[in-house]
Amino acid sequence: MTTTATPAGPRTATIPEVGHLIDGLQVFRDLRDVHDPGRLDEVVARVAAGGSEDVERAVTAAHRAFPGWRDTPVPERIRRLTAAAETLGASGEELAPLLVREHGGLLHEAESDFGVGTGVLRHTLSVVEDVLGVVAYDDERGSITIEKVPRGVAVAIVPWNMPITLAMLKLAPALATGNTLVVKPSPSAPAALTLALSRMVDHLPSGVLGVVHGGADVGDALCRHPLVRKVSFTGGTTAGRRIIESAAPGITDLTLELGGNDPALVLDDADPDLTVDRMVPGVFMRSGQVCFAVKRVYVPRRMYARFADAFCDRVDQYAVGHGLNPASSFGPLGNEAQHRRVTDLLRRTAASSARVIERGSKVDESGWDNGYYVLPHVVLDADHDAPISREEQFGPLVPLIAYDDEEQALAWVNDSEHGLASSVWCADPERGLAMARRVEAGSTFVNTHSFESLDPRMPFGGIKCSGIGRECGDAGMAGYVEAHAIRHLQ
Ligand code: NAD
Repeated sequence: MTTTATPAGPRTATIPEVGHLIDGLQVFRDLRDVHDPGRLDEVVARVAAGGSEDVERAVTAAHRAFPGWRDTPVPERIRRLTAAAETLGASGEELAPLLVREHGGLLHEAESDFGVGTGVLRHTLSVVEDVLGVVAYDDERGSITIEKVPRGVAVAIVPWNMPITLAMLKLAPALATGNTLVVKPSPSAPAALTLALSRMVDHLPSGVLGVVHGGADVGDALCRHPLVRKVSFTGGTTAGRRIIESAAPGITDLTLELGGNDPALVLDDADPDLTVDRMVPGVFMRSGQVCFAVKRVYVPRRMYARFADAFCDRVDQYAVGHGLNPASSFGPLGNEAQHRRVTDLLRRTAASSARVIERGSKVDESGWDNGYYVLPHVVLDADHDAPISREEQFGPLVPLIAYDDEEQALAWVNDSEHGLASSVWCADPERGLAMARRVEAGSTFVNTHSFESLDPRMPFGGIKCSGIGRECGDAGMAGYVEAHAIRHLQ
């Protein structure tokens, strides 16, 4: 085992070496290779493997830094974090290609991950003073003061699909409200995020922001740590259930952004061509590896054939290849586990009575088997009860399910353990709004269902097994503060 500590900032090497970030220092221990999911024979970065010792040191450093950061006046915290946001924004151009080679997305998607993440941080800083405002009541007996105080050490556990934005959705409210934070990146996309954070820490007091690398065991140790008072997790529902157990002994506060199986409900007055044009990008964005991608589509039977034809034609325009190749419209799946899961679901669906239609083209036939590539697939004549409709596919395949009765379709839409986002497609806006109100989900979009649907003022999160709590907006900040009531009698 080798351990060295250097000032934060990347080491100079052809393949970047990325350490834990503890007390403002990068700690390099037992480096492991991270491979490009689009060129499996290429090593993209070498990243420190984590263990209980690293968890202990990072949490202790964050705990030590907490009183000083909590007591830093809010305008000073905003000043420092504004500088950190500048640094993050300026890092995008250099680090986005590295992010592409870690998680397999397209270059413009990786750039937009940095842009959106920077926007999330800036937006949070613009509203934090209002959110932290003190509420006071005076009467003849004395006064009541209600202050919002930070919880202490927070932990952010993030997935690989949009690591910058998903980390900023936690970092921004945590640090702006005065908590300190330890981030655990995904083993599938640890490098670009950590290098960006290692630059941002230059603007912060030592220990306020740390990073520990590792897999589920390290995440579990962070969630169980008695000094951790808040865990914010984005990832799958299975891991979310385990995190609830890990947080139970300390009654640690949780925000959980979990999996989704987002339904799109097409009503019978919708224009099929217009709907297909707007809906398809929301299915296949980032190879379908987006928590709120459209994952099952309900279509009136009388428009089914026309809708399915238009849908398959539109999907045929996709070209799948490496994310750095400008000819690609989406990249490979993010890692081996994802590839196994998606190809297994495809195999099971092909063996059922549904028709599995493969469309699109390969950008680079010769490199196809050297990456986790999957062409887009449309599943026609799918049943609502089939695994392809019930399970979160998190990949470039989608079932189109015919319905005869709108009430039946709504019942199917709501018949899911998930409830993240959802959409209703129609011509009549009032009818769309009325139907949207009856959908069980954290968000329902009308005539849209993709990144264009989101706005930082909208709280984002799920109901049922899609999560607990919200991110974005005032609701997102509420999870990082406690109300402290002070009653003063004369
Ligand atoms: P994942 O659950 O496998 O891993 C997510 C993170 O949790 C990783 O950093 C992982 O190392 C860590 N982890 C895994 N098990 C853990 C445990 N027991 N304790 C602590 N940490 C643990 O998910 P993934 O494959 O990285 O991401 C895909 C999933 O994430 C999909 O289900 C997707 O829908 C979901 N997701 C949800 C949102 C949202 O906002 N709701 C956003 C993006 C992704």
